[in-house]
Amino acid sequence: MMRIKILVLIGMLGAFQVYAFDINPFKKYDGSHELVLNDEATEKSAAILASLIIHPVHEELTVRSFHLIKERKMPGHRVITDKMIDKTIRGVRWNDDPLNLLPDNPLVWFDNFKNASENSDRITSHYDLFYRSHHHDLQFLHAMASSDEEKAGDTQKAVMMWAEFSYKVASQFIPVHTRFSAMQQFLSPESFRIFKKYFMNEGLRKNWTPAYLFSLKCVRQKIGQNLFTPLDCSETDWLPAKEDIQNIALGSLLHVVQDSFSDSHVSRNPEYEGEYSLIHGRAAINTFNAYTKQSFNLHRGADGYPKDYESALSEHDLNLEEVCAQIISNVLSDRDNPRKKHHWNKTASYLKNGVFGITNPNALAGAGKYE
Ligand SMILES: [Zn+2]
Repeated sequence: MMRIKILVLIGMLGAFQVYAFDINPFKKYDGSHELVLNDEATEKSAAILASLIIHPVHEELTVRSFHLIKERKMPGHRVITDKMIDKTIRGVRWNDDPLNLLPDNPLVWFDNFKNASENSDRITSHYDLFYRSHHHDLQFLHAMASSDEEKAGDTQKAVMMWAEFSYKVASQFIPVHTRFSAMQQFLSPESFRIFKKYFMNEGLRKNWTPAYLFSLKCVRQKIGQNLFTPLDCSETDWLPAKEDIQNIALGSLLHVVQDSFSDSHVSRNPEYEGEYSLIHGRAAINTFNAYTKQSFNLHRGADGYPKDYESALSEHDLNLEEVCAQIISNVLSDRDNPRKKHHWNKTASYLKNGVFGITNPNALAGAGKYE
């Protein structure tokens, strides 16, 4: 049953051109490789892959936010182009696919994701970003705690570090070719400390740059049970356009914000019954949730289209599309005026006290309603 479903889904990939901005990254599947779904990790990985393809929630929310800026003529609305939206969408996918496996090699994404699920307890900071993003210490890229013992205050700090880094790259405060080892001069001391912990532990990745990080294009083929070829990133673009990197960084920040409105990732006020997400009229965060505590199927339910997706924006508190529009607008204004005082401090306070505001910094990571 599951097998047929996935093959049908993949067969449908060609039909995605209906979206206004051509947001589907997938090429037609040639059918030469069949997925046999007979264990839990396989089913999970296949289901996530399928939902990334079938429900482009992040992508559609991003397009909506750009439209809102134009509609309301917010600062920066004049410089928005289709190409900018396209690259920002590449960025909202980056958190789920930091090695850029999906567009050309969805089955490689699937094989590696499955392997990471099965071996999550063996992953260390030496592993690549893809393994770490969903199954280890980089779960802040999805506004989640990385373990059951993590306190909300610590998740918030990691999320804010990523917000600061990605915002400053997006707004060209951090030049895209800055080495990680020189990041200290651009980040607050607290954010640099956390950045170092996650990205330069034991002297790793010192010579990486935002341009490299956001252009990674890799492949790692499965060649046997638990056996893979070495990670090959030779297709990475070494001379990416500056604006493309900035837009991918912007998209990555939007991904974290969008995930923070998913009810399975974050429990926000006001609380409600029901395993679905709401994105309008939302307030402070009670807990960041930890995936390990949750039921996979329930979690996934809340990652689909939000229940109030088609309803009007709320007059009170946070509406996800407005939040993203505000962030994009700040970034674009800064990019326009790189020498003037930039909006990071204002944005930081908007994020820390508003969008990622927490009711209790000591609250332990929960399961929400998704146990
Ligand atoms: Zn995510």
